[in-house]
Amino acid sequence: MGDEEIAVLLAQGQPSANWERHLSAKEGQALTEFLREKIGEHPCEMCGHAGWSVNPSLASPLLLSIDFENRQVGAPMTDLHPCAMIHCAHCGNTKLHSLHHLGFDIFAARDTENG
Ligand SMILES: [Zn+2]
Repeated sequence: MGDEEIAVLLAQGQPSANWERHLSAKEGQALTEFLREKIGEHPCEMCGHAGWSVNPSLASPLLLSIDFENRQVGAPMTDLHPCAMIHCAHCGNTKLHSLHHLGFDIFAARDTENG
C-alpha cells in the first residue's frame, strides 16, 4: 500500500467537529457499573491484582480486509468495532469488551445524563 492510499484511508476515519474523544464521568460510571454487573469481579490473570480501571475513551481493534487476488491487506478506517477498554491497575494487562456484544448503548447513557 502506497502513501497515497494510506492518506485516503486516514481521511475517511477523521471524526467530525461534533465528535468527542472521551465519555463523560457519568457515562464512564454507567459503563463501569454495566461491566461490573455483566462480568463481575475477576483478578488479573497475569498478576493476580484485583483492581481494574475503565478507560474513558473507547477503542476498536483494526479490522483488516484481505485482497487475496492482489495479495494485499488493508484496513478501512470506517469499519470500526467499538469496545470498552479496561486495564489492570498493577501490570497494565488490557482487555477489550465489544459494546455491541455487551449490549451497552453509549448514546442511551448520554440521553440519561441529559434527561
Ligand atoms: Zn495485572
